[in-house]
Amino acid sequence: MTTYLDHAATTPPRPEARAALSRWLEAANASATHLAGQAARAAVEEAREAVATALGCSPHEVVFTSGGTEADNLAIKGVVWAARERTRGVPHLVTTAVEHPAVLDPARWLAARGDVRLSVVPPRRDGRVEVEQVLDAVGPDTALVSVMAANNELGAVNDLPALSAELRARGVPLHTDGVQAAATLDVDVRAWGVDALALSAHKFGGPQGVGVAVLRRGLAVVPLSHGGGQDRGVRSGTFAVALDAACAAALTAAVAEREALRTRLRGWTDRLAGAVTALEGVTRSGPLRAEDRLASHVHLLIEGVDPTALALSLDLVGVAASAGAACGAGATKGSPVLEACGLEGAPLRCSLGWTTTDSEVERAVEVLTTVVPVLQAGAAPRAAAGALDAVVGS
Ligand code: PLP
Repeated sequence: MTTYLDHAATTPPRPEARAALSRWLEAANASATHLAGQAARAAVEEAREAVATALGCSPHEVVFTSGGTEADNLAIKGVVWAARERTRGVPHLVTTAVEHPAVLDPARWLAARGDVRLSVVPPRRDGRVEVEQVLDAVGPDTALVSVMAANNELGAVNDLPALSAELRARGVPLHTDGVQAAATLDVDVRAWGVDALALSAHKFGGPQGVGVAVLRRGLAVVPLSHGGGQDRGVRSGTFAVALDAACAAALTAAVAEREALRTRLRGWTDRLAGAVTALEGVTRSGPLRAEDRLASHVHLLIEGVDPTALALSLDLVGVAASAGAACGAGATKGSPVLEACGLEGAPLRCSLGWTTTDSEVERAVEVLTTVVPVLQAGAAPRAAAGALDAVVGS
């Protein structure tokens, strides 16, 4: 049995999501006028309402997308291009160096095309972003600020209410990538004061390939896809009835369980971090204060270990964690986030979630406290895995 510590990459689907998927898998086209089409459309609208209730916004502000990447792209390109049309100039975009590529890449792509002037704010060493530094970057021509709610690698949580209050006073809209936040933070569009929000269902127990863009009423957004005009012309394409229903079911279940889950996860992540940082050369990165970091994430930096050897050793003993950030091709590469924070060492992200059990955490403690010192002593991955066999039997 795999010990699964990679919920930040994807979390297993919740039973509520599975039920909604199979209920609507054979849905009719939700734009068709016959009865079956109307039933499918009702399911989409019910899903939209459930998502709006979960996020504290209006159903009219919810657009279903293919995931977090599309939701981020829609907000960033859509708002920048709308500002460009409005002003006939080159608008200014402010974001941060710790954003996911789903934000940074479209931002840089727009800048390379000359569609936007881009400012990228550096993070603090703990991965958080200083509100004052973001505000310093904002100018009279700033069309959008994009700051993530929580960082996918370090789990660092940003102070969005403080930022949005200042930006509102200056009339600058705020987009946030809330993809990592939704499983454990109380995502609330109004309380956070954000104008646009991106979520991804597979991070909170929904299926992969569906997400949500919240676009506040009045926020001008140029659509990325043109076609049948579905979703109020913002996102054309046949409604993905089963995926949308499953996304909503998962989010509703995640919100109902969130507080209890947070408490459970805090206990486990502290137990895991405490045990592993007791080893020589292992430190926990990210914010120190519990309220500044996601309850689900433990990010460790391990000295004297090759990241590839660490990843291989964990695979050999059936522990799925993220040794280095997963890149698009499935390989690992140096992390721009850690680089931006000035952090060095072999990174290991353990991310826990709604299926995590006590015994998984204990197994992870056993594995890491055995394998890491052996690797640090220069052993090859197979020998490190063998050492675990000798200690506990794997
Ligand atoms: N934003 C963040 C912070 C993420 O962690 C991810 C996925 O890992 C994404 C965006 C992209 O989401 P999706 O996989 O749904 O496209």
